[in-house]
Amino acid sequence: MPELDSEFISNQLARCNRCGYCIRTCPTYRATGHEGAVARSRNDLVRAVQRGKSELLEEMGDRFFQCLLCGACTESCLTDVQTDEIMVEAREAYRQAHGDSWLQQFIFRELLPDPERLAKYARLVALGKNTGISGLARSLGLLKIVSPKLDNAEALVEHMPREFFRDQLPHLGFHPVEDRPRGWFRYRPARVTGLRLLYFVGCGSNFQVPGEVVAGVRLLQAGGCDITVAPNVCCGLPPYSYGDREAARLLAAANLETLGSADCDVLLTECGSCSSFLKHYPRLLEGTEAAEPAQALAGKVRDITEVLPDLTLPEPRPLSHRVTYHDPCHLGRKQKIKAQPRDLLKRIPGVEHIELPEADWCCGGAGSYNLSNPDLSRKVLARKVENVRETGADTLITSCPACVIQLASGMREAGLDIQVRHLCDFLAEAHLPPDDAPC
Ligand code: SF4
Ligand code: SF4
Repeated sequence: MPELDSEFISNQLARCNRCGYCIRTCPTYRATGHEGAVARSRNDLVRAVQRGKSELLEEMGDRFFQCLLCGACTESCLTDVQTDEIMVEAREAYRQAHGDSWLQQFIFRELLPDPERLAKYARLVALGKNTGISGLARSLGLLKIVSPKLDNAEALVEHMPREFFRDQLPHLGFHPVEDRPRGWFRYRPARVTGLRLLYFVGCGSNFQVPGEVVAGVRLLQAGGCDITVAPNVCCGLPPYSYGDREAARLLAAANLETLGSADCDVLLTECGSCSSFLKHYPRLLEGTEAAEPAQALAGKVRDITEVLPDLTLPEPRPLSHRVTYHDPCHLGRKQKIKAQPRDLLKRIPGVEHIELPEADWCCGGAGSYNLSNPDLSRKVLARKVENVRETGADTLITSCPACVIQLASGMREAGLDIQVRHLCDFLAEAHLPPDDAPC
């Protein structure tokens, strides 16, 4: 039987006095009203197992896996108990006790470490979605037989892009790097006036919202940046969140090997989850040989919202929009990047920014939470949708591909005519001419 007795867990549990301050801001508690859905109760279960008062029972799985890992409880907690990190260890122990699903194993161990294979599967999925085959399979109940997660994923997105981001690199003025293996591309401006960037392409960014990455890259090009794109693999956050820290470490090690050799000022991404987890590598790899290189790499990581304010971009043209902004958990809470996206929006003439109530509350997307816990995810999302509706905004902006997809599905289901856009996409509309062909 796996144990839940790491030094980290013991220290954290010793600090949880069951005061319940975390109740106010826990989205799963506020969505369900169940005491079992709040941090102190989740921690109590771990404590019971740790002290030998209970086995790690199969029915505890829901309580561990229904946590969004949003970190809101830690912010409300006077002793900074990191329930999200406790849950990651609890999930790991749970998996070891009760086994993994074949789909998770396949995705984390076979697909994510192999970008070319992952791209082939993504093309198949896109073909199925865009031709209506997967929709048909779903309506016949076939996807549910293979896996409920596939069924939920099919329903979540309206369509899949026909071209992924990496396919578009040549059209964006990127060229293969001669002394590097396949997958390395570089864009050199005539005169470098910005930063020398290594662009980290996240999986969701590449496959699900490539237009937003293109928008981000075009802004960086307009800001005079020298940009290199490497054949990185997934940052590792999906397996980490699932409690498969070993799979996350393998992906992190592969990225360190690929990215560590690049000569750059900044390792940059437009996905708040990727930037957050790349900064988490030193902790993930603590005690291993890779800890030092992980520290060096993490020191260079910046989210695009940290870099754009310092670039000299073309003057923005006026846009007539009433906008509101949702803080992705991994950007706003975990990296404390809240002011920069709002400041960037406020620079655009004609844009009225309305502050969103509970802007930093999780939208229920939480990586693949909307696939594994669809009902609870929808309840969490409903609260967000209501807050957005109250602002009267016509456009909802955010800075994470997973949030874009989740929020867009929420607006669709609620029948609201509110566009959901990634910040880069919106900024590109303001700062770049519509037909500005990247040079
Ligand atoms: S996690 Fe923090 S706020 Fe919540 S009950 Fe424990 S000590 Fe109190
Ligand atoms: S991490 Fe989020 S969902 Fe989980 S217990 Fe804390 S506040 Fe609730």
